[in-house]
Amino acid sequence: MPPSSRVRPLTFVDTHLHLEELGDPAEVVAQASAAGVTRLIAMGVDLGRSRGAVALAQRYSHVWAAIGHHPEEALEPDLAALDELAAHPKVVAIGEVGLDFEQARTPPPDVQMARLHRLCSLAVEHGLPVSIHNRGAATELAEVIAAHSGLRGVMHYFALEWDWAARFLDLGFHLSFAGLVTRPSRHALREVVKRCPADRLLLETDSPFGNAHKRMGVPNRPAYLLDTAELVAKLRGIRLEELSDLEKTNALALFTRMR
Ligand SMILES: [Zn+2]
Repeated sequence: MPPSSRVRPLTFVDTHLHLEELGDPAEVVAQASAAGVTRLIAMGVDLGRSRGAVALAQRYSHVWAAIGHHPEEALEPDLAALDELAAHPKVVAIGEVGLDFEQARTPPPDVQMARLHRLCSLAVEHGLPVSIHNRGAATELAEVIAAHSGLRGVMHYFALEWDWAARFLDLGFHLSFAGLVTRPSRHALREVVKRCPADRLLLETDSPFGNAHKRMGVPNRPAYLLDTAELVAKLRGIRLEELSDLEKTNALALFTRMR
């Protein structure tokens, strides 16, 4: 649909990306805005990059920050420093955090789980949602999430089948869909896209990772969120404008400091 025939402007939120890995942020943010991706949540995977995400959020009005500690990190998270950073008004989430039991170099599961418990406590203390990474650890993630009453958040880059989607939805979590859904072989994931309650659905690029099928081999960018959005709208039988409205509403409801 050409821009002139749109009923109202598209305003999608890229709820999970690694803005620091993308080159010139001014150009990336401008390209995203021009495509209708007007809000970006830059993730922090360690303390340095969390500080970097906050700096980018301070510089660009379209950018907000998440601060976190990726499960692949060898060192312990600096909770005192993260606690201080969490008070910044443009910090909207604790992330990227989670569990990764499949990568070769990740710390042992018990170490990762102990860290995640502390990071979830930090999120609850600050009233912030968590952006959760999962690789081969859905059972343990559900266990950790269930242990923290009042914890809100999103399963980022959701890639599992409906039974797991239902489990995380029951825990009050949102599901964020990325370029993975555009891969034709992902039938079970597309089923989840169709069945996800309208008020729990989010979108992301995870750029520069997680590209859409038609752009495989090209570094991902927040502007390419539209590839995923177009398919998600089609799968759910709604117009792109309706998806834009509901995704923005959901993102603002979860990432409350972004309002
Ligand atoms: Zn990520």
